[in-house]
Amino acid sequence: GGKDAENKVYKVGVDTTYPPFEFEEKGEYKGIDIELINAIAEDQGFEIELSPMDFGGIIPAMQSGELDVAIAGMSITDERKKVVDFSNPYFDAGLTLVVQEGNSDIQKLDDLKGKTVAVKKGTTGATFAQENADKVGYKVVQFNDSPAMFQEVSNGNADVLIEDYPVIAYAIAQKDLGLKMVGERLNGDQYGIAVLKGENQDLLEKINAGLEKLKENGKYDEILKTYLGE
Ligand code: GLN
Repeated sequence: GGKDAENKVYKVGVDTTYPPFEFEEKGEYKGIDIELINAIAEDQGFEIELSPMDFGGIIPAMQSGELDVAIAGMSITDERKKVVDFSNPYFDAGLTLVVQEGNSDIQKLDDLKGKTVAVKKGTTGATFAQENADKVGYKVVQFNDSPAMFQEVSNGNADVLIEDYPVIAYAIAQKDLGLKMVGERLNGDQYGIAVLKGENQDLLEKINAGLEKLKENGKYDEILKTYLGE
């Protein structure tokens, strides 16, 4: 009802460790997604509360009613559209293979035969890896968060990982992970803000309106510039 809706504080699921989209610094959550959702909420006059969690827990938490919204570098997919509604896209991404800097035998999917592939639970990277595992013939190992997955390849326990290229490019530029991206992008996709399917149409309209406004007034570009540079 009207009054409840006005006082409602929307719970927003965010991935805990996904720079430059979301990360913790000195006890504060930062990143492109965090600033976007705060700016949208401010522009559209609704209240939010962040709920940081592993990415794999976000859609289940939406389904059980613990979360109203998710902004988590979440790719818009047909599979997810069965359970959530997405805002208009706000960022272009896609998957890439990542190996140790010194590795020269992996360039493409077929080169993964006999290898160990690290992925993060519940992600498009995990789905992609699983869909091709039998055909190509490799083993998939799953992690709860991106840093753990990166570590697995850095330390040689896995041969390759699959991650969104804007995220791994940022991580490689920030830290000495000893990793590099290889080959062509495995796909192209776009990030969207998710709300629970069929239940939050007013909220979704506000999110789209806010996003549009931030693109028009330069705030969107300013946020991207803060984290990605020129
Ligand atoms: N974009 C990927 C997905 O939607 C990864 C998201 C993430 O790890 N936070 O599955």
